[in-house]
Amino acid sequence: MIPAAFDYVRATSVDDALARLAAGDGSAKAIAGGQSILPLMKLRLARPETLVDIGRLAELKGVRRLSDGLVAVGALTTYDEMLRDEVLGHYGLLADALPNIGDVQVRNLGTIGGSIAHADPASDMPAILLALDAEVVARSARGERIIPATAFFQGAFVTSLDADELITELRLPGGRDDVGSAYRAIEQPASGYSIAGVAAVVGAWSVDRWGFCSVGVTGVGEHPYRASAVEAAVRGGASFEEAAAHACDGVSVASDIHADREYRAHVATVQVRRALEAAAARLG
Ligand SMILES: Cc1cc2nc3c(=O)[nH]c(=O)nc-3n(C[C@H](O)[C@H](O)[C@H](O)COP(=O)(O)OP(=O)(O)OC[C@H]3O[C@@H](n4cnc5c(N)ncnc54)[C@H](O)[C@@H]3O)c2cc1C
Repeated sequence: MIPAAFDYVRATSVDDALARLAAGDGSAKAIAGGQSILPLMKLRLARPETLVDIGRLAELKGVRRLSDGLVAVGALTTYDEMLRDEVLGHYGLLADALPNIGDVQVRNLGTIGGSIAHADPASDMPAILLALDAEVVARSARGERIIPATAFFQGAFVTSLDADELITELRLPGGRDDVGSAYRAIEQPASGYSIAGVAAVVGAWSVDRWGFCSVGVTGVGEHPYRASAVEAAVRGGASFEEAAAHACDGVSVASDIHADREYRAHVATVQVRRALEAAAARLG
């Protein structure tokens, strides 16, 4: 439980952090709240030579509205700060998910940027960012790029981020009155991680069908995914129960000591239906 020896530097600015990551040539890693990287280092599953502490960079914190209607959430914003933010309070799926992530320490120290860079296949925020069609803003000494959430999560603990890049912020579509959203999960009680977690956004009801439906699923496959077959079924006029039967279409469902393949697939189906129903109910 003792990490291998490493150097520690506290970055004085984002540019300073980026220069240090670039100089590390793959052997330097950022630390934000330390809730995931420190356990990994203690288990020696991660052995960075240098930890670049970005935790005090005020420029990466906070929530703001952008002129194009998007809402930017700084990478260093903690779960607790998101929970207390007035703008984010309008997102039903965040209000559902945030109070149940980890424990008080995790919510006080864990950051949204750290969560998605770590990319645990069972973490909650990726499903939410997928359902919202969010964008990840990544910066390196080479410049800035915007990565759609749908292209960000590539495998278990694998993202499209380069070793010398930092996430600076997440961009969410502005809250709209004509869509409802919800998050539903069955969690492994000891850790709080989802056995199956589902974020749903629905809207634009007309006559007998939903014009808009977006569903992100975590905890089920090798990485969080958009349940496109569910979305298409809902838009095609299927009931939520019929659509939910497609929750795991095309996905290799994970099996572990907490849930075997069959049980996890069943939980996913039930949670998709519940998330869709709860999202629709928020539209009144
Ligand atoms: C007991 C416990 C329970 C938990 N329960 C849950 C749960 O129920 N649901 C859930 O979703 N999660 C859960 N988590 C995970 C938690 O959400 C993450 O540990 C936390 O959000 C990671 O953020 P951090 O700031 O602590 O990241 P760190 O641990 O500091 O960093 C994690 C990784 O991200 C990288 N990184 C950090 N910030 C950036 C950045 N801005 N740009 C690029 N790379 C970056 C680091 O280099 C490192 O590789 C739990 C964790 C613990 C310890």
